[in-house]
Amino acid sequence: MKLDINTITRENVKSLKPYSSARDEFEDFDTAEMIFLDANENPFQTGVNRYPDPQQLSVKAILAKNNKVKTSQILLGNGSDEVLDLLFRAFCEPKIDNIISLPPTYGMYSVLADINAVENREVLLSTDFQPQVDQILDTVDDSTKIIFLCSPNNPTGNSFSDESVVKLLQNFKGLVVIDEAYIDFSKKESWLTEIDEYPNLIITQTLSKAYGLAGIRLGICYASEAVISVLNKIKPPYNVNELTQQRAINRLNNPETIKNEIASIIEQREELVKVLLEVSFVEKVYPTEANFVLVKVDDANKRYDQLIEKGIVIRNRTSQPLCENCLRLTIGIPEENAVLIKELKLLK
Ligand SMILES: *Cc1c(COP(=O)(O)O)cnc(C)c1O
Repeated sequence: MKLDINTITRENVKSLKPYSSARDEFEDFDTAEMIFLDANENPFQTGVNRYPDPQQLSVKAILAKNNKVKTSQILLGNGSDEVLDLLFRAFCEPKIDNIISLPPTYGMYSVLADINAVENREVLLSTDFQPQVDQILDTVDDSTKIIFLCSPNNPTGNSFSDESVVKLLQNFKGLVVIDEAYIDFSKKESWLTEIDEYPNLIITQTLSKAYGLAGIRLGICYASEAVISVLNKIKPPYNVNELTQQRAINRLNNPETIKNEIASIIEQREELVKVLLEVSFVEKVYPTEANFVLVKVDDANKRYDQLIEKGIVIRNRTSQPLCENCLRLTIGIPEENAVLIKELKLLK
């Protein structure tokens, strides 16, 4: 499919001249020997007295190498939440355009739609939590700019079938965002390998889950250079702070640690799933490819309260569509999971 990004970009964004920061204008210099008197910073060293790199090139270089993409196909944000917000602000005209999301799913798509005064058209997942592609395509109109797919999906834990995703990528003339926050816990490959194939494909990932850095707020957007350059025009100049960039680099340079933690979480997840199947009040354990598991129980509110009493906090998803009496349990460290298992077995 051909996609001219200009046809779906908001008019004000197209004509926008981005703010040019002091640091932007000197990005190509070898900075070590230079005297910087351009940005009104305090010259005394604190370790962070200088503004951070607005393009986060050291972080992007690692991500680009690891994922075999160009740095110009990456945008970083203050968590995925900022990345998702930038997508709304770049492509969705308030009170005119709409987006499609597929509940039960991550709550931020709907919140961000509301914040940006963009209609959120909801098309429920099927009962096995797959996209209902024909219904989605029927819901699309000329003002539909983005379809949000979360795969593996939060809170259901499953990935969407390749056929559904491909059909949407091929037939929808707007942007398809695949939120891969949990991709590292899945056996499935990331859709990243397809970004050169589909100009309307946008992938978001995060360092908040598998990479163990929720506290630093670093979200990643991979897309065509055309999409990334639109997002770059509207992002706040210093949206990823220096401490975040440093911590991200340190962590990304320790791939073995990350790999081991992911392996442990997956092993613990499989263990927990086995135990849950034997718990008397558990009615269904949904297949999971994430670092959590969704279970249907006899009475979600009751079981949630009982666990709180024991000092264990889980997420009650019973009010979500298709999730009646469902609880979402995040995988902890082995000691925590052992306590959870012990308490689950004792509940009456
Ligand atoms: C946790 C989560 C994120 C992560 O958001 P950050 O802002 O990067 O912490 C993104 N998408 C989904 C579906 C999530 O569950």
